[in-house]
Amino acid sequence: MVIATVNPATGQTLRTFEPYTPAAVEQRLARAVQTFAQYRLTDFGRRAQLMHRAAELLDADQETVARLMTTEMGKPLTAARAEAAKCAKAMRWYADRAPALLADEHPAAADVADAGASRAWVRYRPLGVVLAVMPWNFPLWQCVRFAAPALMAGNVGLLKHASNVPQTALYLEDLFRGAGFPDGCFQTLLIESRAVEGVLRDPRVAAATLTGSEGAGRAVAAVAGDEVKKTVLELGGSDAFVVLPSADVAAAARTAVTARVQNNGQSCIAAKRFIVHEQVYEEFRAAFVGAMAALRIGDPMDEATQVGPLATQQGREELGELVADALALGARVECELDVPGGLGDGWWYPPTVLSGIEPAMRIHHEEAFGPVATLYRATDLDHALELANDTPFGLSSNVWTTEETEQERFVRDIQAGGVFFNGMTASHPALPFGGVRRSGYGRELSGHGIREFCNVTTVWEA
Ligand code: NDP
Repeated sequence: MVIATVNPATGQTLRTFEPYTPAAVEQRLARAVQTFAQYRLTDFGRRAQLMHRAAELLDADQETVARLMTTEMGKPLTAARAEAAKCAKAMRWYADRAPALLADEHPAAADVADAGASRAWVRYRPLGVVLAVMPWNFPLWQCVRFAAPALMAGNVGLLKHASNVPQTALYLEDLFRGAGFPDGCFQTLLIESRAVEGVLRDPRVAAATLTGSEGAGRAVAAVAGDEVKKTVLELGGSDAFVVLPSADVAAAARTAVTARVQNNGQSCIAAKRFIVHEQVYEEFRAAFVGAMAALRIGDPMDEATQVGPLATQQGREELGELVADALALGARVECELDVPGGLGDGWWYPPTVLSGIEPAMRIHHEEAFGPVATLYRATDLDHALELANDTPFGLSSNVWTTEETEQERFVRDIQAGGVFFNGMTASHPALPFGGVRRSGYGRELSGHGIREFCNVTTVWEA
């Protein structure tokens, strides 16, 4: 893939970049290692000062960087502004909480004695240079979600961003440098995906984190495994959105629309499969389809736009193939919006709702990365749970019920990294984020996220 900014709303190439030469990559790697040697010795107070400064700069840049993201990957401008604000919030959260999250841990005195020690404790130390391979869908957030905890822990980062968001990638490097982080704390590598292996195999790189497709995750994890390096993988999802009879069906339907079309439908934690108890199926279907049909598709720079174009031409082709396969095998179209005329030659895809989904259809077990919802009718709670778990993924899930026993069933039995009741999945710095099965492993955010790239060091004295 060429490293370039191509406006998804018009298909126009605005700027192209030459990938860094091996010498330029080497220079940045060397700088990262040199920087780490000093930076790891800084205290939390100093790191927090720099992180707060980065958050201030980001707030000041909000409009510019939001427009940049919208230009590079097509998310509605209002969503891009919210993404920038969320990043600043996460930076502040980690700046303030890192000392407590990484404080030394002291086992109980009896256990220390039993371990034959006069004293013993645990210290969280940074791992070193961490490579972050990141996707375009939340081009700022996915990186900050890694960078804020990693830098607060004393690590340094190298970012290989998706090839279609190079300017956002360069902005991030400028942001951290501008905040006063030493050169080398956070550097962008403008490289193609085939160059990732060489960087990851370099002995100076300690670990990697990847957010993206299963294929990319598999490739990076295979190399990291071969090199015995730690990885965190946040891959795709096909989250269930289950509606049971006790739910506020109107509220569920309204939230379902947002949960499906947020970020033009290109979110790993978007609800994708809507599994509705037969007692409320018709009520939910009518409200959901009605609200999907009323969505406003348009120029993502327009404040009133709810759904913009998909980020890439390839993404639109893949989504089209998934829908065509389902239709060929008998799926029904409940609603398919017309893309308004005069929008330009961008990669528009109409919000669509399909029902009559069967396991033989690809869309039943693959991720629909765009505004396409699948509707399922469940006969009872067991059936709903069975359908919810009938996916190779396990990122998050949404369940609408006010019955505590039903909630408990989902907490116990859903095969996913999260379950959100009577609302939609959203990430928050205080809550761990990540999945099981093909959605990956490891956790981001919260204390779990900041400890992923730490050397959990046991200290023992006789
Ligand atoms: P990719 O997974 O291909 O891209 C994500 C990142 O991985 C990019 O930086 C990409 O670089 C890099 N990458 C891709 N292949 C490799 C590889 N073999 N070795 C090392 N790095 C690699 O996402 P796509 O943009 O192609 O999207 C395809 C599908 O991925 C989507 O339809 C969706 O299902 C899923 N996806 C999931 C996301 C999530 O949030 N979980 C986010 C984005 C996509 P480059 O851009 O240079 O190829």
